[in-house]
Amino acid sequence: MRSVDELTMYVYGLLDPAAEEAMKDHLHDCAECSEIRRRIAAEHGLFKGALKRESPEMPAWTSDGASRHRRRS
Ligand SMILES: [Zn+2]
Repeated sequence: MRSVDELTMYVYGLLDPAAEEAMKDHLHDCAECSEIRRRIAAEHGLFKGALKRESPEMPAWTSDGASRHRRRS
């Protein structure tokens, strides 16, 4: 289990190379951290799948409904 701060830095590629390697190893073995990492990336819109929820290229008339269903967490 790693801290969310560390995982966030990993998602953004801000860890130094040694720490990043250690994190990669850890994520390989730790489903819990992998899930947190996935969620951080989704919340920051770094995954293509996450962008579908925001749908920035949707016509303006749909934005009202889209924002109403937007998950806040
Ligand atoms: Zn972990």
